[in-house]
Amino acid sequence: MYPQLVIDTMKLKENVQFLTSLCHEKNLSVMGVTKIFLADEVLAQCYMDGGVDYLADSRIINLKRLSQINLPKVLLRLPSISEVETVVRYAHISLNSELRTIEALDDAARMMKMRHKIILMVDLGDLREGILPEDFDVTVTAIKEFKHIDLVGIGVNLTCYGAIIPNADNLGQLVTLAERLEQEHGIKAEIVSGGNSSSLYLLGQDGLPEGINNLRLGESLVLGRETAYGADIEECHQDVFTLRAEVIEYKRKPSLPTGEVGVDAFGNKPVYEDKGEMLRAIVSIGKQDVFIDNLIPRDERIEIVGASSDHLILDLTKTGDDYAMGSIIEFDVEYGALLSLLTSEYVSRVYR
Ligand SMILES: *Cc1c(COP(=O)(O)O)cnc(C)c1O
Repeated sequence: MYPQLVIDTMKLKENVQFLTSLCHEKNLSVMGVTKIFLADEVLAQCYMDGGVDYLADSRIINLKRLSQINLPKVLLRLPSISEVETVVRYAHISLNSELRTIEALDDAARMMKMRHKIILMVDLGDLREGILPEDFDVTVTAIKEFKHIDLVGIGVNLTCYGAIIPNADNLGQLVTLAERLEQEHGIKAEIVSGGNSSSLYLLGQDGLPEGINNLRLGESLVLGRETAYGADIEECHQDVFTLRAEVIEYKRKPSLPTGEVGVDAFGNKPVYEDKGEMLRAIVSIGKQDVFIDNLIPRDERIEIVGASSDHLILDLTKTGDDYAMGSIIEFDVEYGALLSLLTSEYVSRVYR
């Protein structure tokens, strides 16, 4: 069945093994982030076999799906007040920045006769989630009042929204706050979580401030790449995932459409470049299945011309006689493509 996403579980496990050993050598625990593959259980098992210490996801439904896997679960996105019972039930730890939510978690935990652990998120400039550093002391003082909540650490998220790069300065501030938590508030910061795959580059330069003891890794594990500068990690596989799609039309056609140009199916007015006659192929996948801009044909001679909801049009002019009707074309997938492919019910998954 095509299109299909082929997943090399050995390569994934090797990526996880490499990066978790590297982190463990530097006394960093690893939260393996599963949201990129919608908490697919086979892949989450690869994380576990590869040695991650926690499984982490932004959606509580995904953590529920992973209940069978015997590792502590971490909810990455701030909990909604409307879902606190589910959070207490399925997440051992959640990341938080709002006292209202923490109070609701405390209430839920009390009613369920359970305890819930939280990591307090601090915003150090990226301007997504987190309390501002100046509110640290009042917030911690208030959290200490909740009887069913254990504050187990602090964390920061960088690069995801504001594209701010982690460095000795912003992560140094996090370590200072962790020390403050211990000295001023008498709470040991068991977890000082210094960010995501964009913090990895600091390991290579020995630039991660001492005191950071945890990273939350997603993209680096699955795509073998650090995300501060987008560099491939040499020791990792970048081709854990391969999209395979089938050619359903294969013809020589002009590169310029004929007739009056209106708007396309998505309301855009296209602009065309005349490249003369082309060898064009259509493969049976489209914008409904995948974020096209994030696909890269494995065969470097192939170029993506464009796509509509169900059709992806390729320029095969440079490929001679190498393809024909029914050929399978392979693509590397970037982050956005992976998310969309795994969400589409029209794309089958094949595990190797
Ligand atoms: C998605 C996410 C991560 C993982 O980020 P990667 O860049 O994929 O490593 C870590 N922390 C939080 C809070 C996230 O939302």
